Amino acid sequence: MAPVLLRGGSLIDGTGAGPRRADVVIDDGIITEVAEPGSSVAAGPTSSEKGPGPATVVDVSGLTVLPGLIDTHTHVTLGEPASNDELFFHRQPALATLLAAFNVGKILRAGVTSIMDVDGLFDIGPALRDAIAAGLVEGPTMKSGLYALMTAVGGTAGRMIPGQGTAGYAEVTRNRDEMVTATRRQIKDGADLVKIHVTGSVPTRRGELQVWTLDELKTVVDTAHDLDTPVVAHCRNAGSTRDAARAGVDIIYHASYMDDEALEAVVESGALLGPVFTFLANLADYGPKVGSPVTALDVFRNEIESTGRMMRQAYDAGVPLICGSESGFIITPYGHWHAREMEIFVEVLGLSPLEAITCGTRNGALAMGELDRTGTVEVGKRADILVVDGDPQRDISLLGDRSRFKRLYCRGREVDLDRPWPQRPPLPGERVVPWAADPLTWDLVRP
Ligand SMILES: [Zn+2]
Repeated sequence: MAPVLLRGGSLIDGTGAGPRRADVVIDDGIITEVAEPGSSVAAGPTSSEKGPGPATVVDVSGLTVLPGLIDTHTHVTLGEPASNDELFFHRQPALATLLAAFNVGKILRAGVTSIMDVDGLFDIGPALRDAIAAGLVEGPTMKSGLYALMTAVGGTAGRMIPGQGTAGYAEVTRNRDEMVTATRRQIKDGADLVKIHVTGSVPTRRGELQVWTLDELKTVVDTAHDLDTPVVAHCRNAGSTRDAARAGVDIIYHASYMDDEALEAVVESGALLGPVFTFLANLADYGPKVGSPVTALDVFRNEIESTGRMMRQAYDAGVPLICGSESGFIITPYGHWHAREMEIFVEVLGLSPLEAITCGTRNGALAMGELDRTGTVEVGKRADILVVDGDPQRDISLLGDRSRFKRLYCRGREVDLDRPWPQRPPLPGERVVPWAADPLTWDLVRP
């Protein structure tokens, strides 16, 4: 196939450099040239006697060219459940697999060329990753976890987490032997990363408690690192963030309500931070629009504000921040909210749009261990490129507006953005269906 020359666009390359006019050449899936406008060798002779150059020229003048977005916190196998009940009791492997294959293309069409799928159902994740890489399924390049490891205290799904074994996205490890065994087995089964739920809820307490000891965290981290596999952690308080960092966890998600000690531990350890504000922000800002029964929405706003202050300090101390959307729930359906984290980084952390774009592209590649292959528009990298109408430096939110997308390349292949957005009816048994909204009492009907 002939090389493709994206000519005349304004390039934001993802390195943090400001926009500049540049021509970008894609050849055989790779970016082979980033050149001053009009100076590309791939363009070949352009005068009328000599005919057109060998490259297929795509005029992108007036448009912005930037790296494909990287969402480092998705759950592509969950299938947008409306509740934990639905997620834990209304999924079966074959249908969940087909549904994940249907959904993952929507993430790509939202401009996301790479995802880290941190945990999910059954053993679907690695299979989906391999199917995408082999071209069986259209989707972004994927790194996949398997079940999230929990202690017997469980996680945020309370008593739906069993005392042992697996359910939903959870795998319960009751002691150090089981922690070692589960970690090794997940890696054998194809996990690119191991996820730990360091905090969980119990019915007698508000908020989340730390449910792993430092020593237990080290057990998993050491086992995974011995097998050259990174560990990521869900931490919704200061102590869990501190201990995860001290144990050597590579990526800490949420890191809510960090204190100085936790921040110091993160800076010292070199961990990356992904606050994953999007889910909370969607609930707080738009939950009432979709009839979300969750109350105390200001609690979510407060978590964003207070965690945001510490995230800003972490950023200033040189901690790489990464963007994640928590896509996979009814509040964060696939293909809709992958760019919102960058908006929140601008609004809440006070980052410039350019800095936020670097978090959502280059730093994502760093989190995936793929910085030598993607995350920026530079020679030698995979051609993961998004072309948008407008200036994201002026309005970062346009990166969430698919109507502004003009071209999208993933691993060098152009994605068809013109097809209608995939729609589907509900699947049999997918939703929890109540018998009634209220008890049918005698007085109600027999006055
Ligand atoms: Zn998550």
